[in-house]
Amino acid sequence: MNELERVVVVGASLAGTTVVDTLRRLGYAGSVTLIGAERHPAYNRPALSKGVVAGTDGLDDIVLPPPSGEVDQLIGTPAVALHADRKEVVLAGGDRIRYDGLVIATGARARRLADLGAADPGVQETTFRDLDDAHRLSALLATRPHVVIVGAGILGMELASACVDRGATVTVVDRQPPLLGQLGPYLADLLITAAARRRVRFAHHPGGVRLRGTSGPPAVELADGRRFAGDHVLSAVGCAAETGWLASSGLAGAHGLVVDTRCRVAPGIVAAGDVVAFPSAAGPRRTPWWHSALEQARTAARALLHGDDAPPLTPSPYFWTDQFGMRVRVAGLLPAAGRPAVVDGSLPDDEPWAGSALLRWPGRGVAAAVNRRIPIGRLRALAQLEPAGT
Ligand SMILES: Cc1cc2nc3c(=O)[nH]c(=O)nc-3n(C[C@H](O)[C@H](O)[C@H](O)COP(=O)(O)OP(=O)(O)OC[C@H]3O[C@@H](n4cnc5c(N)ncnc54)[C@H](O)[C@@H]3O)c2cc1C
Repeated sequence: MNELERVVVVGASLAGTTVVDTLRRLGYAGSVTLIGAERHPAYNRPALSKGVVAGTDGLDDIVLPPPSGEVDQLIGTPAVALHADRKEVVLAGGDRIRYDGLVIATGARARRLADLGAADPGVQETTFRDLDDAHRLSALLATRPHVVIVGAGILGMELASACVDRGATVTVVDRQPPLLGQLGPYLADLLITAAARRRVRFAHHPGGVRLRGTSGPPAVELADGRRFAGDHVLSAVGCAAETGWLASSGLAGAHGLVVDTRCRVAPGIVAAGDVVAFPSAAGPRRTPWWHSALEQARTAARALLHGDDAPPLTPSPYFWTDQFGMRVRVAGLLPAAGRPAVVDGSLPDDEPWAGSALLRWPGRGVAAAVNRRIPIGRLRALAQLEPAGT
């Protein structure tokens, strides 16, 4: 173990608290300071677009277990700068916190159409990322509004599902067909069929979407001129690494914080979770999913303590989504092209929500469980099975 005495963790959510737990479990006995911008204790973020918007979960139901061991928690206190040369983190109030080991776990922020140059100047844009956003949307849904969601990816579709469960009517608009780019055609079709039963309306055009209007609720316009107005318009167009506070440090790239396979950013600095761009065959890539944050956090803690002697991470991608009465869990890299082999069970084409199945994309390293309980390890093993005859 090296000479680590003061660890500072910036970002007090899944990745940050998992690093702290792992450090303690590995025997680190020095001080830990956990700095978090949100004024809530760490909570289960995936529950926001599911139980919290649906009105079935409150904060008490979704808080994460507090980090183990003694931890100085500075909650509701964003870090605003890093001076890596002086080993100092600067807080919003001007305080400076010294470290000899730093963990960057500041996650991601919701991307805006405005960031993509797809919004009129001054238009009011609403996004969804944190507990406050979930409470605001949940309150709005009490009036059973018409909600227009821009973005037919995983988040947009989960929000559509939670909104219709609350009695809202929902239109989802995108430049691409729903879920195709994220899940591939087969899984996308299953969920679109389930969404159509709940009367969700879809519109897309490859020419893109624009947010229009400078007073009152905005409207959404497709490149072919179709216009969609609702009581509430919500952007769900992806997320971007939360690296603004690192601007002057020179550490952050355009698409996230690039790490090595041990989640190291620079000497004495590691990173984990949605903020990270991890090495892949196609270059550094963000995988902003729960299990990626967990495995990166455990790797980062080991690297902080043991440097080159720590094991590198070989990612084993795993992801789930709950929407329109279906739970889909996937091991392996998405999107999954082509049609899968059904390993067990069945999914009726016209009523997939009524069935359950284990699926495998032979030769592609992907397996899925639809409405089926199976330990993650078994799903991963299924994904890795070689096609017969190879
Ligand atoms: C609505 C929603 C639903 C999701 N559903 C799923 C799902 O079904 N399945 C799945 O696999 N994944 C899902 N995810 C992704 C999953 O929640 C994330 O991968 C996971 O939360 C990443 O954890 P993290 O700690 O890296 O980042 P985050 O959870 O984003 O936490 C980062 C924390 O750092 C704080 N922070 C940011 N900047 C600063 C600063 N300057 N100073 C101090 N603190 C700062 C933030 O306030 C935040 O609390 C979902 C995400 C969202 C938003």
